[in-house]
Amino acid sequence: MTTNTIAVTGAGIGGLAAAAALHRRGIDVHVYERGDSLREQGVGMHLGPNGTRLLHRLGLADELERVAVRPEALEVRAFHDGSLVTRQDMGAAWERAFGAPYLTVHRGDLHRMLAALLPAARVHTGRELVAYEESRKGVTLRFADGTATRASALVGADGVHSVVRRSHTGDERPVYSGNSALRGLVDAADVPGLDPAVMYMFAGPAARVLVYPVSGGRQFTYVVVAPAPEGIAESWTSTAGRADLDAALGGWAPQVRALVGAAREVRRWALYDRAPLRRWSTARTTLLGDAAHPMLPHHGQGANQAVEDGVALAVCLAEAGPGGDGIAAALGRYEAVRRPHTTRVQLGSRDGKAPGKGVREQAADVSWILAHDVERSLYEDPYEEVSADTAA
Ligand code: FAD
Repeated sequence: MTTNTIAVTGAGIGGLAAAAALHRRGIDVHVYERGDSLREQGVGMHLGPNGTRLLHRLGLADELERVAVRPEALEVRAFHDGSLVTRQDMGAAWERAFGAPYLTVHRGDLHRMLAALLPAARVHTGRELVAYEESRKGVTLRFADGTATRASALVGADGVHSVVRRSHTGDERPVYSGNSALRGLVDAADVPGLDPAVMYMFAGPAARVLVYPVSGGRQFTYVVVAPAPEGIAESWTSTAGRADLDAALGGWAPQVRALVGAAREVRRWALYDRAPLRRWSTARTTLLGDAAHPMLPHHGQGANQAVEDGVALAVCLAEAGPGGDGIAAALGRYEAVRRPHTTRVQLGSRDGKAPGKGVREQAADVSWILAHDVERSLYEDPYEEVSADTAA
């Protein structure tokens, strides 16, 4: 029987996690990334226990221990004077409850360690997918540089503006949420009032600010979710200035304004909402990560769900065995397990999209997300299908 070759487009967190999981299971995988190098945009991210248990199994426990932070607590503080409203212990208590740690990490660190799990020859940069053709035997990928390649199956991990997704859905009309996210990175030495073992949430009437440690506690990253006019790009390449921060945080405690103002550069991402897809796969193609289920960031789960997708896909393709005959069934199994789960997460992540909501409302119960073990779920009863109709 011939060996299957899997082509993954996009070397983001999702594409690299999928490729690493496939490679670990002995599957011939190649990643095609449009960027000229493997450089991750963005600053920090939360890794829930649902993500970290999988990263540990990929062999990254020691590396994460070195560069990530396991926050001891989440402190909610008043926006106008910074006083403590409530404190929730996390740390060891959460690790015991969920069977894996809750971590905060610099995106670049996670991206680098996932890339290091793959032989360099498996990742092809400067290869922007522009089109593909699917036949009974496989897929031909065509790139912007005029080159082409063939694979047994194509995995679209090419992000929120995915070429592969577009061929499934046609032109979509994402709905602007009315908010944008401003993000910056600050040296811990520049904000001595903050404890590098704590996450902070400041919730005001029109905006909220989440601050958490990364880079082993040497830096803090923040996210300001605040109303903004439509027209900002849905991309981390947009930058914001002092005036944008002042507009978002007028009347806030000086310590919060000083903290966000201490970043050397502030990036801005417009927050758009999209309805869950009804289908991800054909006989030889499927979607993964933001390409499959772009979600608002309020649960901090987009990348975690992408890692879950990658691991699930690898198990399904590995158990299908060599030879192209099993691919359609493997992609079908992958979608049957993942789409209902990510649809629930995607719909749930809309909660709290209005920054003015109370802290209790914003802290929706996400324990079912954090407790999830995607590898176990592959062998449990299939999920009850969640209707994408509720998504309008
Ligand atoms: P991406 O990271 O977008 O990667 C896609 C890759 O594909 C890129 O490298 C791109 O260059 C490449 N590409 C695109 N088009 C092509 C093409 N045609 N050909 C070849 N390559 C292509 N998630 C969390 O889990 N925790 C958090 O704390 C968190 N915080 C967030 C905060 C904000 C404000 C936002 C907006 C998102 C946040 N997320 C968080 C979500 C998370 O960033 C995304 O869900 C995650 O990065 C998706 O990964 P991905 O690999 O699917 O897509």
